[in-house]
Amino acid sequence: MRPLIAVCTFTIAVAVFAQPPSSDHPAPPDLKSELLAVRDAALTDDYAYQQVAHLADNIGPRPAGSPQAQAAVEYVAEELRKLKLDVKLEEVRVPHWVRRVESAELVEYPGQASQTQQKIFVTALGGNTPTSAAGLTADVVVARSFDELQALGHAKVAGRIVLFDVSFDKQKAAAGLAGEAYGEAVAYRGNGPRSAADLGAAACLVRSVGGADYRLPHTGFSQPAGIPAGAVSAEDAGLIARLAAQGNVRMHLTLTSQNEADVTSYNVVGDLRGSEHPEQVVIVSGHLDSWDLGTGAIDDGAGVAIAMETAQLLRQLNLQPRRTIRVIAWMDEENGGRGHDAYAKDHASEMARHFAAIESDLGAGHPFGFEAKINPDALPLLKPVQEVLQSFGANVIHLSTRSPGSDIAPLARAGVPAFGILQDSRTYFNYHHSAADTLDKIVPQELRENAAAMAVLADALANLPGPLPR
Ligand SMILES: [Zn+2]
Repeated sequence: MRPLIAVCTFTIAVAVFAQPPSSDHPAPPDLKSELLAVRDAALTDDYAYQQVAHLADNIGPRPAGSPQAQAAVEYVAEELRKLKLDVKLEEVRVPHWVRRVESAELVEYPGQASQTQQKIFVTALGGNTPTSAAGLTADVVVARSFDELQALGHAKVAGRIVLFDVSFDKQKAAAGLAGEAYGEAVAYRGNGPRSAADLGAAACLVRSVGGADYRLPHTGFSQPAGIPAGAVSAEDAGLIARLAAQGNVRMHLTLTSQNEADVTSYNVVGDLRGSEHPEQVVIVSGHLDSWDLGTGAIDDGAGVAIAMETAQLLRQLNLQPRRTIRVIAWMDEENGGRGHDAYAKDHASEMARHFAAIESDLGAGHPFGFEAKINPDALPLLKPVQEVLQSFGANVIHLSTRSPGSDIAPLARAGVPAFGILQDSRTYFNYHHSAADTLDKIVPQELRENAAAMAVLADALANLPGPLPR
């Protein structure tokens, strides 16, 4: 996920149905039995798990521009062709993120034993400007907020390594507010390096945005700031802050990772053509690129896999919806979002024909339902979806004023009804963007539930008799 994810700010309005679906466009009586069949097939199918397993285990980390990302594009396209979808590769120019040397040592600190250093666990952020191969050595200054950094001012920041020691709020995450916790902390990953650079800092480090306790640094995107930018493990941020409170701390930092030259990559776009309104499109989607530390299983191989599963289930059940269902595996969500920007540009004239868009990019945990940026007048039409998904608790619809996903945000801004699956994300950020984003974090039955939620919603939207109010 990107900084300032929409999920951190949604306002909650649980749908209540006082009135029946619009009498102008009643849901066809056979739609609900079709949705039940889709649900039940999804809850016993292993296709999605096989897809995410291939992406994560066999192809592996898929940073935009990498050979693995290209292999994933070709793999997903071929799988969708096997399902007899009309598949297009839509071009996206992306930089190729290449991770190289990343190391940090405290070389001076209070109480230091002679001729020793302390290793710090660090990883470069997207947006990093590399250090020289020899690295740089500078004093560390710690800030716990943007205000604290401003109060330190140019005199105390220039030439130093700024460390933003801002905690990820694990209590919020444990209580089901992981998106909010992420949003608060990720502001420093996204914008901290620029604010430090503005005051002349030599480099900027942030406390990793994540909730785990195994001294893992979590990478992610940061706005390019013209200085080296990295994340240290939460434990190391605390360690450095405690030492800095006692006296001077000096660090040697080497971060040589960077974006290399732009290369051509692709969004994979596969259409299961509608029977009555093929020009009207319901999108099901996740992003195919991933960060490189883990294998991109929960972020977001899972999202791509369940979108593929929607098409697979409809084929398996021999169902052709009235509108086109479009599977999209987005490229470059993590490192700039060039895939969704390219799609919005290339399809600008077709926005009105996009009936709705669904995205999954909050892991593979048990789904509670959907976050939705839709006109509340559309809610009664979604009642059959909620009834069908209630059997496993995926029947909530939270109304949001912002896009529930970053890849469908341009569509949402254009007025396309936008849905994101609302997963149980209590542990998601323990692994997110770290080396621990691996296939074992996915519980197969929970992935099936996600597939069921996406497929049932997509099939309902693609078969509604009338338009969704916008
Ligand atoms: Zn993601």
